[in-house]
Amino acid sequence: MINTGRGILTVVSGFAGSGKGTVMKKLISEHDNYALSVSATSRQPRPGEEEGISYFFRTREEFEEMIKKDELLEYAEYVGNYYGTPKDFVFSKMDEGKDVILEIELQGAMQIKEKYPDTLLIFLTPPGADELYKRLKGRGTETDEVIAKRMKRASEEVLCIKDYDYLVINDNIDDCTLRVHDIIQVAHRTVRHESELIKRLESELTAFI
Ligand code: 5GP
Repeated sequence: MINTGRGILTVVSGFAGSGKGTVMKKLISEHDNYALSVSATSRQPRPGEEEGISYFFRTREEFEEMIKKDELLEYAEYVGNYYGTPKDFVFSKMDEGKDVILEIELQGAMQIKEKYPDTLLIFLTPPGADELYKRLKGRGTETDEVIAKRMKRASEEVLCIKDYDYLVINDNIDDCTLRVHDIIQVAHRTVRHESELIKRLESELTAFI
């Protein structure tokens, strides 16, 4: 689909274990209109994660320096670690016409919603709590204590889904990816995201009469 003008900023959140990372990777690999923002974090890399691709891994001190220098669009503390979105990448990609996706947790999502009300907010969930627990356990990368923290966190996060625009069930990666893609593409057709097209129509019609 042809995008007119600036890209759309989309926030994708979901419980840890909702599979949002996998869905986002698939979305990016299948369509070239998307750019996925790479966050900074103070947590330790998991096996297989790469600097500058999965995250920019920083110490707490380095992260606090980024906050001080106002280099982050939003940031939050989540299960004892800092996470934040570096500003520069997001705006430059949107200006290029890319739809930028922030895969971030809820506190950051709410900061973005307040600062940039045009942002599209999507929440991903597995079909149920049992499935969520199974996925977290199945990852095999976290201790039982961390998994328990993440389940508790999910029980708090569920109360905030109402602040999002769309809720998408991730029961199957392919279907879920398609649903997210459709939502973003339909958002391009909303009047608030079509201001450039409206301006062009206005001036063409004025010239015509
Ligand atoms: P994980 O440690 O599993 O990679 O991420 C934990 C949580 O932090 C996830 O919900 C993820 O979406 C969120 N997260 C990742 N990057 C950012 C960010 O830049 N800002 C915020 N607020 N949350 C983030």
